Amino acid sequence: MRLPWFPRRPQAPLIDDADWAQAGAGVPAVALLSAEAQARLRALCDAFLRAKTVSGARGLRVTPLVRATIAVQACLPVLELGLGAYRDFVEIVVYPAQFRVPRRQTDDAGVVHETEEWLAGEAMQGGPVVLSWEDVDPGREDLATQVIIHEFVHKLDMIDGEADGIPPLPASLRTQWETVLLATYDDFCAQLDALERSIPRHIDPESEQADDWYRALPLDPYAATDPAEFFAVSGELFFFDPARLQAAFPEWFALLRRFFRQDPLSRHSLH
Ligand SMILES: [Zn+2]
Repeated sequence: MRLPWFPRRPQAPLIDDADWAQAGAGVPAVALLSAEAQARLRALCDAFLRAKTVSGARGLRVTPLVRATIAVQACLPVLELGLGAYRDFVEIVVYPAQFRVPRRQTDDAGVVHETEEWLAGEAMQGGPVVLSWEDVDPGREDLATQVIIHEFVHKLDMIDGEADGIPPLPASLRTQWETVLLATYDDFCAQLDALERSIPRHIDPESEQADDWYRALPLDPYAATDPAEFFAVSGELFFFDPARLQAAFPEWFALLRRFFRQDPLSRHSLH
């Protein structure tokens, strides 16, 4: 049904200029957008914050900067897709630091293992996105991962069910996506295996010393977990280091460009 048109009073922007600048400073891709696209992103962020609730857990105070930081990175991937892509959830929960999540796993012998994991972010199917502020604070200089974009890419993946690396796609794209995603994922896993074999035995692969080897990979090794994580980690790189992703996996990059309907590389080449 189409509602009758009526004049609306312009709403004051929810993100003020100082918070917008600080939140955007953590995301170089924002500065590379045209003025028109930046204005659309800012309006999308306002609409996002009006539609979602951001709650603090464990005493975290949800400041305007917390809200702006989350909105900018949540909205950048859907700048050309619209907020409908986030229709299956309302809540975002922010902890001051990493949070503990209980895990239950049944092994092949049917034995149930109760463990726990510390996480910087989690996207729950049909439920909230949970984040650790310490891991996404744009004031932090050593931000190693883009947790917010990562979790919201999982949300895009989950619109049509479980996270499997395959978001809802037009029929014309779906088969190609499945083929290229799995081939690229296998390629990456093979690169990781080869790299791990090349680490000298006296170096613990879990130690910081081994990081020099892992840095040669185009993506964080975590992307080898499964195709869903591969898609989410690729999403981080697509917006934060698109040239690296394109150089490593050009066919996969081209598909991501069609999915997000954005070309972060052509933006970069303008500068
Ligand atoms: Zn993930």
